[in-house]
Formats: sequence, structure tokens, C-alpha cells
Amino acid sequence: MRRLLYASLLIMGFALAGCAARPADERVISKMLDGPLDTVSTITLYGWSGDEKPIEDIFTMLYGIDARMSAISEESEISAISGRTGTPAKVSKDTFELIEYAKKISAETEGAFDITIRPVVSLWGIGTENTRVPGSEEIDAALLSVGYEGIILDKAMSAVTLSKKGMRLDLGGIAKGFACDKAVEIFKNADVRHGVIDMGGNVYVYGLKPDGSLWKVGVKNPLAGENGYFCVVEAADRAIVTSGVYERFFESDGKFYHHIMNPRTGRPVDNGLISVTVISESSTQADALSTACFVLGAERGRRHLAMLPNVEGIFVADDLSVRITPGLRDVFNIVDERFKMAD
Ligand code: ADP
Ligand code: MG
Repeated sequence: MRRLLYASLLIMGFALAGCAARPADERVISKMLDGPLDTVSTITLYGWSGDEKPIEDIFTMLYGIDARMSAISEESEISAISGRTGTPAKVSKDTFELIEYAKKISAETEGAFDITIRPVVSLWGIGTENTRVPGSEEIDAALLSVGYEGIILDKAMSAVTLSKKGMRLDLGGIAKGFACDKAVEIFKNADVRHGVIDMGGNVYVYGLKPDGSLWKVGVKNPLAGENGYFCVVEAADRAIVTSGVYERFFESDGKFYHHIMNPRTGRPVDNGLISVTVISESSTQADALSTACFVLGAERGRRHLAMLPNVEGIFVADDLSVRITPGLRDVFNIVDERFKMAD
């Protein structure tokens, strides 16, 4: 939990620099979410009119997504879809569209991103009290139930069917981004002009800063146990989403295991990366791609992002070398000198 609170402070640290007290037209509110969004979410409005409605609407929406999209709660739509091979489950439009989009990203990333990874995630128990290193046979068995091609979508019925035995969904790699985009929609409809949505590792800077400049967003230092940020990105109307190994992990026999899984091996990704950040207008896209690019690795990940318009990325390896996409050159600065540009 500490990591998420900390992420919230990063951007506010910038936003508040030099202010002794918060101005009357600034409104900050933080609330805990504990479903797949699993974060302290902080909304900040600048030039605030005093209207509480958009803030209430955002949290109502966030709690709704948390409840519907949980892979754990028996009551959720995801549980209704999972674990019932061959039987269609009717779901809300939001859930249907998100699963449809996730499947598209899976195909585009050749399965690096795969929301059917749940049987593998459960086996390792990462993020729960039951973490353990499973045996190869167990991993092979779980992998038989993984594969996004097995998600069958019926748009007319808004129904989802999982076709392989034991298949289960996990929206943990994309739900936060989706929720963030929904919050941005609420900002737009409420005529909010400047704001920040911070969902711990998923930040959206909305509009320009009230003084007309770009926001400066700190990206968390990915070294385990370290606080602070290692680089700063300047942006407006952008999602800045980071997937890192420091988020959820455990150690066993001196080995380090984290929560981003390689759907081909059924094991935590082990390619030398410690953090990937994706920057895009769409937070849903940035969230899915930060997870996908982590799996793809720095080279394939950067090649993938290069094909997409207005999507940028920052890749950090365990030797603290940093690679970025060309579009970031003028808006990216390393502020922790232990990290070095690789090229
Ligand atoms: P975080 O949830 O910490 O913000 P990510 O967005 O990278 O980080 O999502 C990681 C979560 O996504 C994992 O906890 C798991 O639920 C799920 N996941 C793990 N590996 C994959 C994968 N290859 N494709 C899709 N989802 C994944
Ligand atoms: Mg993600």
C-alpha cells in the first residue's frame, strides 16, 4: 500500500511546490479502492468551481468498476464469466468493451498481454499471503487454460464465453487504465479544465497546468525499497502508466519473483527490465501496453510502440540503463544520476 500512497505524492509534490496553503479553488480527494484497482486514488482539480458532483461521480464510477471487474469477488462480472467453460455470461457494456479491447491488444502484442493469465497468477499467489514457487508440472497444467484466442465475444448479446477448461480472466493489467479514462470523461462533461488523476502508477494529467505550462510527472524509482522518482516527463492530456517489478513481489531461496507474468512460460518475466512506462492519450491503452511491453522487452517493446501514433515509452533495465522512444527526447529528464541513457 505504501507504494501507492507514495505515487500519489509524487505529482502533488510538483503541483504544490512553493504553495504554503492550498488555494480555495483547488480540491484534492483520496480514497482507497481494494478490488482490481487496488490503490489509493487521488483526484485533484484546479480552478475548481466548488461543485462536488464530478468528484462524487468519479468515485461512484471507480467503486463500480472495482466491484464488477474483480477477479476475486464471487459477485463480480469477471467471476460470472470465469470458470464456466462454454457457457456465455452476459456482462455490462463497459466490461464487454474492455474485454474486447484487451483481446485486440493481446493479438497485436502476440499474446504478451493476455487477460486469461489468471490461472498462472493464482498459482503463484503474488500479492496474496499464499505466495509460493510452483512446480513445472503445475505451471504446465495452468498454461493449458491460458490463451486469449479462447475468449469468445458476442457483441449483440454483450456476452463473453471462455472456451477452454479452467479458463479465468484477470483485468489487473488494464482495469486501472480504463477507470482513469472514465474519470477523464467525467472531467470533460463537467467542464473541468485542469486536473490530475493519480491511481498509483497510473497518472493522468488533464488539460494544461493552471499556469498554462505542461505538467511535470515524476516516474517512480524502480529500485526495490527506494522512494523518489528517477525521471520527470512533461506532458498534458496524457496518461503516464508504469509497470514495475517493485510493485508486488516475493523472495524465495534468494530469488526474486514479481507479478508480471510471461504467458508463454507461466513464470514472472525475466528479461532484465525493472520498469516500463507508457505515455498515451488513452490510459486504457497505456496500462495494457506497459504490461505488454514489459513482457516484450526493451527492443521488441520499443519497436511495437514506434508503430503506434502518439504513444511513447520509457524502459529501465536492472543495470539502470534507460531507453526511451524518440518522441520523448525533448520532454524527458533523468533526475537521479545513477540512471543513465543507454543510447
Ligand atoms: P499494476 O497492477 O501493479 O499496476 P500492471 O498494470 O503491469 O501493474 O498489471 C499487472 C497485473 O496484471 C498482475 O497483477 C496480473 O493481475 C496481471 N498480469 C500479469 N501478467 C500479465 C500479462 N502478461 N498480461 C495481462 N495481465 C497480466
Ligand atoms: Mg498494466
